Amino acid sequence: EAKFGGHGTRVFSPALNQATIDRRELEVEMASALENGGFELHYQPQCDADGRVAAVEALLRFTHPTLGVVPPSRLIPVAEESQMIVPLGNWVLREACRQNRQWQLEGHPPVRVAVNISAIQFARQDFAERVAEVLEETGLLPEFLELEMTESVVVKDFAESTRQMERLKRLGVSIAIDDFGTGYSSLNYLHRLPIDRLKIDRSFMQALNEPNSSLPILEAIINMAQNMGLGVVGEGIETTEQMSMLCLKGCDLFQGYLFSRPLSADRAITALQAGNLG
Ligand code: C2E
Ligand code: CA
Ligand code: CA
Ligand code: CA
Repeated sequence: EAKFGGHGTRVFSPALNQATIDRRELEVEMASALENGGFELHYQPQCDADGRVAAVEALLRFTHPTLGVVPPSRLIPVAEESQMIVPLGNWVLREACRQNRQWQLEGHPPVRVAVNISAIQFARQDFAERVAEVLEETGLLPEFLELEMTESVVVKDFAESTRQMERLKRLGVSIAIDDFGTGYSSLNYLHRLPIDRLKIDRSFMQALNEPNSSLPILEAIINMAQNMGLGVVGEGIETTEQMSMLCLKGCDLFQGYLFSRPLSADRAITALQAGNLG
């Protein structure tokens, strides 16, 4: 513990102290991984109703030599608290675009790549500029990039968030609202945002078979999206029952273990080549 030398570490309970050390240690390890190419992206296919791969979502992966696999649910909060999310998020964006362009140059069937954007990244004044730079550097056409963000990006400053989204839309990229239905925002903002797609949170898939089924909500979200001219992606689809229900209700893209787990870049190529995971 002396190694971390924090003032007043002794006032914490041993468990809490341990958590503090782990967090700082993780922060140091992440900073070094960012410098030394220690992060990786995996890609999870999004399929249409026929099982054709329409897009892939880029997901951050970090395997530490001694800590082992550290999941994004642990990495992202640490990165957000330390502001490392900005350079890390930039790396994810650049790597996803570079990789996707590379696949196209190798002659694989072109797909959109969806990149998760943290609210902190999105709030940076120069974010749209960064995106423009990355597209230019990598040569990826904007129609092949989608930015996924949760409703949390609009809670702070609605007017500024809308302007930011409009800047992004002018570049020609698409925008999806991630984990839709789980945020705190009310429905009255949605029609004012220049978005392209809703991703229905996987908690709704899990609750389909509960006594008070989530089906009415799912159906309402899909109808609303259709009436607004938005695409809709079902997330976390694990069973054929969930798939056929969503399909019946008019969902247009499907993502989940039923089709494919997130894949390493090499295995993603195999999925692209196969073209159909149905
Ligand atoms: P998310 O954006 O909602 O991504 C979907 C998560 O659900 C992924 O977890 C994926 O592996 C998992 N998943 C996909 N299909 C299924 C399924 O059928 N069943 C179940 N149980 N899970 C499924 P992952 O990769 O652990 O990522 C967790 C979260 O971390 C992501 O949730 C996203 O919020 C965040 N994240 C991941 N990569 C990045 C990144 O590069 N930048 C940012 N800002 N956040 C990221
Ligand atoms: Ca996502
Ligand atoms: Ca999601
Ligand atoms: Ca989620």
